Amino acid sequence: VNVDQKLGVNKFHVDEENAHIVMKEGNIDRAEYQKLVLACPAGLYKINDSGDIQFDYAGCLECGTCRVLCGKTLLDKWEFPLGTLGVEFRYG
Ligand code: SF4
Repeated sequence: VNVDQKLGVNKFHVDEENAHIVMKEGNIDRAEYQKLVLACPAGLYKINDSGDIQFDYAGCLECGTCRVLCGKTLLDKWEFPLGTLGVEFRYG
């Protein structure tokens, strides 16, 4: 069983109205962003084939790694999802 398969058993209740993580607007420091590409366990920080930055908060595991690494440099907001929204970890 690989990591993607393990992540696949989790359920996500995505808050479509209210992103719980928001990146800063404007120029993004690429070296800084690369940290998130490498570190996010869910692989949500991406660089597409055109070299553009892509981030989607759906699928977040709420581990806080991006907040620790770049909370002051690249992120405008990092909060836990409201109420019953967000990841629901499942095992087995
Ligand atoms: Fe990825 Fe963890 Fe940040 Fe969620 S909290 S976006 S899983 S690094």
